[in-house]
Amino acid sequence: MEKGQRRLTMHRRIGKDEERSYLEVPFHLEGRVERIDVSYRYEQSGAEAVVDIGLCSPDGIVGWSGGARASFFVGTELATPGYLARPIIEGEWAVLLGAYKIPADGTMVTVDVVLTEPHERWMKGDLHMHSVHSDGRYTIESAKASCAARGLDFMALTDHNTLSQNQSALVPDERLLLLPGVELTSYFGHANVYGAPEALRDFRVTTPEGAKAELGDIRAKGGFVSLNHPFCPSCPWELGFDLPYDAIEVWNGPWRALNEHAVAWWQEQLAAGRRLIALGGSDTHAEDRFVKHGRPTAAVRTDTGTAQGVLDSIRRGRVVLSFDPDETFLNLTSGAYGVGDQMPRAEIDGTGAIPLVIDVEGARGDHVTLWSDRGIEAAWHIAASAEVPAKAWEADVSDGGWVVQREIAALRELGAPAMTAAAAMGTSAVHVPAAEAPDGRVRLRFEGKADRLFYRLEARRDGASTAQSVMTCLTNPLYIEREVE
Ligand SMILES: [Zn+2]
Repeated sequence: MEKGQRRLTMHRRIGKDEERSYLEVPFHLEGRVERIDVSYRYEQSGAEAVVDIGLCSPDGIVGWSGGARASFFVGTELATPGYLARPIIEGEWAVLLGAYKIPADGTMVTVDVVLTEPHERWMKGDLHMHSVHSDGRYTIESAKASCAARGLDFMALTDHNTLSQNQSALVPDERLLLLPGVELTSYFGHANVYGAPEALRDFRVTTPEGAKAELGDIRAKGGFVSLNHPFCPSCPWELGFDLPYDAIEVWNGPWRALNEHAVAWWQEQLAAGRRLIALGGSDTHAEDRFVKHGRPTAAVRTDTGTAQGVLDSIRRGRVVLSFDPDETFLNLTSGAYGVGDQMPRAEIDGTGAIPLVIDVEGARGDHVTLWSDRGIEAAWHIAASAEVPAKAWEADVSDGGWVVQREIAALRELGAPAMTAAAAMGTSAVHVPAAEAPDGRVRLRFEGKADRLFYRLEARRDGASTAQSVMTCLTNPLYIEREVE
């Protein structure tokens, strides 16, 4: 049983005399439930038994899979094909049974119903990709299949200046939540709009004034605006930053110089007291050795497994970016507060200490740094355990594929401040012995101070045979409420 789940097991004996009738196994549903999983089995004693199944809500039949499936689920936005995804209402529900073929001595049917309540979880997704609806090669179906194969929970189809991909993707999927999106793409910069892509009225913004008006209008209509790859060499954001927007895409595709630039710029903004959400997305257009769905992955802390829940959490900055879906994952908490939250003044005691807890997963030889408005406050080296095999992308970095090779060359030319992860470590580094993180999982603690504006985390790993480190994980800040002067 996972968190927030309860199971009901019910039995129904079906007699020969009930053959070719429809039966109900009722159950009462109370409180908030976001998903119902149903599975069933029945005895096959001698003669063939065939019992069909379906589900009925207080509002009527939700779906019927006959004898085709042994299990199915219905959720608020996702459902097994053949069942309707919709908000789950309280009241009298029933598992429907169809007594199609029943042996002479009857059969015993066991039905398991698992009810999942809303609960906090991290959902992983890709916030930036293209399909055949603009200049991508992926169809909607092949993009969905690729995202699902990469282990993602949600995806945003952000085709250039069009909404048709969102309309084509409306049929609920079994696995992936779809965040409606569009990439405003002009000759002077790109910006993703999430949640209400139809709020984009006209993409032809060519001046800072025009961008101000258009982005302001989008936000007034409920759209969430992220300025994309602002320091991209070929298509940077050239319309200024004195604009209405919510987020900045600091991590576009594989880790490269443009991302290094964007993170440095973002840190400057944060240090100046600005609160700006950092997002990332793969910008995948076609199958590629380096550019892949979920590279980077945006992990979002949400209470409900719905597109709306994911969007609400993105608006709150509850986002952690990772190089790949199964790469290093960092979480930063202090008591009940986490990434994207603000620690209220009232929660801070007279000592002004902010006890920080840093959870690290999947790290192997990563350098974890804790940042505030003053720069790096602490650094840890998470030693790799010998048994953990190298990830494919690490081999790619060293064997010279063109994208990474080109970008690493560019990064070298840039003279980036953090050429290697070790160089990025501060003097207060605390080394964690390998024995403490045999599976890459470790909990670190740090005593933060209430006079900081925020704390956030980064993890980097040095390439096997390059002078360049790759960002493996980056969290949004945990903010500290400012003292009223
Ligand atoms: Zn773009």
